[in-house]
Amino acid sequence: MNSEKIPGLYIHIPFCISKCHYCDFYSSTYVSAVPNFLNAVFKEMEMYRNRFDVFDTLYIGGGTPSLLSPKQLKDILTSVQKNFGLMADSEVTVETNPADLDQSPLESMRQMGINRINIGIQSFDEKVLGFLGRRHSAKQALSAIEASRKAGFENIGVDLIYGVPGQEMDSWLDTLKRAVAFSPEHLSCYQLTLGAETPLGIRYQAEEFLMPGEELQYEFFIKTSEFLEDAGYIHYEVSNFARGMQYASRHNQKYWDHSPYLGLGPSAHSFQSNRRWRNHRSLDQYLVAVNAGNLPVEETETLTMEQLRLEAVYLGLRTKRGVNFEDFKNRYQYDLFTEKREMLNRLLEEGFISIQDGRLSPTQAGLAVADSLALI
Ligand code: SF4
Repeated sequence: MNSEKIPGLYIHIPFCISKCHYCDFYSSTYVSAVPNFLNAVFKEMEMYRNRFDVFDTLYIGGGTPSLLSPKQLKDILTSVQKNFGLMADSEVTVETNPADLDQSPLESMRQMGINRINIGIQSFDEKVLGFLGRRHSAKQALSAIEASRKAGFENIGVDLIYGVPGQEMDSWLDTLKRAVAFSPEHLSCYQLTLGAETPLGIRYQAEEFLMPGEELQYEFFIKTSEFLEDAGYIHYEVSNFARGMQYASRHNQKYWDHSPYLGLGPSAHSFQSNRRWRNHRSLDQYLVAVNAGNLPVEETETLTMEQLRLEAVYLGLRTKRGVNFEDFKNRYQYDLFTEKREMLNRLLEEGFISIQDGRLSPTQAGLAVADSLALI
């Protein structure tokens, strides 16, 4: 399946200078292990060189890739080119923390061919940043966007978080206003979720604070969507907005339409044909496996046609593009329009979906409850 689609490459840099209080991603603050880790990633690339050829997106995420030196980033790009190859018009993204974005590293990134930068700003409200345990200030966030533009980045993404305990709607709208003032090409607005093991998750279970209720979360979601659409952004996925579809994340779209992708580094996921696999989460286990000459895979799953089909509906209903009935039928051998006619009519009446030109798409209200819509 999808052998005709060009895969994307994800590289997980599992290091952070300090841990944010809400973070559930795998990352270590033991940054002196970076050189060993990079050597292992280069070996992992070699192990896949006969299974993957050329990529058209590269996403260096984390963790905090911006704590790598320009030379280390350059070595990653060189190794990707050596083992696989990147198409000429590839989207090459690096995730960054505003505290790391001085002019000089940004210029180096631009020169080495990184053409998209994603900045984890989260908020322009110092109180919110403090609560979340971010290591940068609102002022650093502003200079990071300015410096990125000055370095020549024409595709800037900004990550923001809403639904933080104690956060007023005005504070959130002010953060959106300040972000939009720079006309970033892309915005990701995530609702705060707390993993049980995170410092904030533990405090929440100890009832130190309340999380916003469902109604307030819905209001945050709808106000965000309205504000950004008024500002000219396309709400193209539950949490993602683009200033024109040419700026929609090409890499992330691969996750949503069952395109193949290879993930390298601890905890990275990969998908090819109907197989999905995940690397060891822990850096130590990852290093042991790779250094012994083995693929660092911890879990592999082969998806049945039924599972792929359900996933395709779930993922499709999270995007404005939705699901094309004819393509769906060809790809998953299932006539969604006929088989689920009754359910679709009900969702249509309730205003959660629209059906037009042979395509099923979520409305704005549908995007807000996309997870439950997928139960059809
Ligand atoms: S910078 Fe990102 S990956 Fe690192 S601890 Fe904070 S949220 Fe997690």
